Amino acid sequence: MNDEKFYELNAISENIHTKFENLKEKGEIENIEYLIKNLLKKLPEKYSIEFSFNLSIFDSEREKSIEMLRVGINGLGNTAETYKFSESYKFNRYLVQGHIVEIPHNHCPNCWSEWDFKYLGSSCSDCGVTLGKEVKLLIDSNECPNCESGKISPKKPHCDNCDFIAEDDLVIWG
Ligand SMILES: [Zn+2]
Ligand SMILES: [Zn+2]
Repeated sequence: MNDEKFYELNAISENIHTKFENLKEKGEIENIEYLIKNLLKKLPEKYSIEFSFNLSIFDSEREKSIEMLRVGINGLGNTAETYKFSESYKFNRYLVQGHIVEIPHNHCPNCWSEWDFKYLGSSCSDCGVTLGKEVKLLIDSNECPNCESGKISPKKPHCDNCDFIAEDDLVIWG
């Protein structure tokens, strides 16, 4: 396995996000929104329409991809209303069998399957790696990897904002 540090993809992700914001300022997105709304009014309620920019990375060996960013418009059939959305994913750093892996928090750092809400002793339902055994969280700032706004440290492993506890088996302090 290679060391996977996708954090640099974030630069591209931010670039796309900025372009989307620029289009919004120019009224271009509102134009598309208007067209979607008008069409929804003519369609049966069961149809919804989505327009988006996506950024994802695909691994041909694993045959899995990880989504990094999704920005766009969602139009709902039952109300003919549209909503702008912007989804990007926070990255976590892990140590996986001696390798540093830096990927969005909702994926397994070993096999890339979806694996969210990781806590000590939870396992990936696909490849079976367990947090605290084959996989550990790498923490090199005092930011809580669970809520992002709380603070943790080796002396105070209990996050001051959420119920995350950076137990010794779970984390490696950088
Ligand atoms: Zn896995
Ligand atoms: Zn927290």
